[in-house]
Amino acid sequence: MKIIRSVKEMQDQAILLRSQGKTIGFVPTMGYLHDGHIALMRQARKENDIVIASIFVNPLQFGENEDFDKYPRDEARDRKIVEKEQVDILFLPDISEMYPNSMGVTMDVVSRIGVLCDRNRPGHFKGVITVLTKLFHLTQPSRAYFGLKDAQQVAVVDLLVTDLNFPIEIKMVPTVREPDGLAKSSRNVYLTEQERLESIHLYQALQLGEQKIIDGQKNPVMIVNEVKTYLKQNITGKIDYLELLSYPTLSPVNLIDEQVIIAVAVQYSQARLIDNIIVTP
Ligand code: AMP
Repeated sequence: MKIIRSVKEMQDQAILLRSQGKTIGFVPTMGYLHDGHIALMRQARKENDIVIASIFVNPLQFGENEDFDKYPRDEARDRKIVEKEQVDILFLPDISEMYPNSMGVTMDVVSRIGVLCDRNRPGHFKGVITVLTKLFHLTQPSRAYFGLKDAQQVAVVDLLVTDLNFPIEIKMVPTVREPDGLAKSSRNVYLTEQERLESIHLYQALQLGEQKIIDGQKNPVMIVNEVKTYLKQNITGKIDYLELLSYPTLSPVNLIDEQVIIAVAVQYSQARLIDNIIVTP
């Protein structure tokens, strides 16, 4: 596996590989890798000649009071994981490589925001699509892989490549979970023992909502109320949001007759957890 830290070398390599007719699968991450990231790498490995993974904790997508400084990092451990997954190139730029000057041009999002994570993380998705635009130009992917755990993120990235005609296929990969249902996340290490025990109720609450839809409930308010009641009875964390919206458009729904997402965010003492379930009635 080749490790590249320089922006110029990364772009030169990627352009060379594409000129040789190779397909490139790209997996962008912020590191502290777990089975969710590995699922993306494995799918990319199956579908492309070359796999490029990146690890970059992007300051642009963190708010002032968020966890940029204490976001977990372990390069040596991550390198071993990526190597084992037969990734061809690991791109590991540092902040001065990615942002040598303060950015004079950034990207903006106007759809699929104003809901879910954008409510309490203003500017987050702007930071995400700005860094992804740079990373896409640097790695020249044929396909890029994203987890449905961050369902709003992949919905926004889908818009980015559609609206701005990036020649990239966006692949959405199902959420990988712990055996008890908790969605894998780099931030799970910051849960206390008690929080970890009760965190299983996030997915259980979402499954309760899913079951109501399967049973024929079409009123989103009834479902949100039931799921919220369940959550309040079973968790001590603060519910940041619990919403039911169309997916991937993320519009309000009056009657459930199309694909919807039930999404939740819970703030614990040191970790904010998000999870969702996508249901087609
Ligand atoms: P992150 O390192 O948290 O920025 O995540 C990098 C990529 O991995 C994103 O596309 C995430 O959606 C995806 N990802 C994170 N956790 C999971 C998971 N539990 N299952 C599937 N994909 C995930």
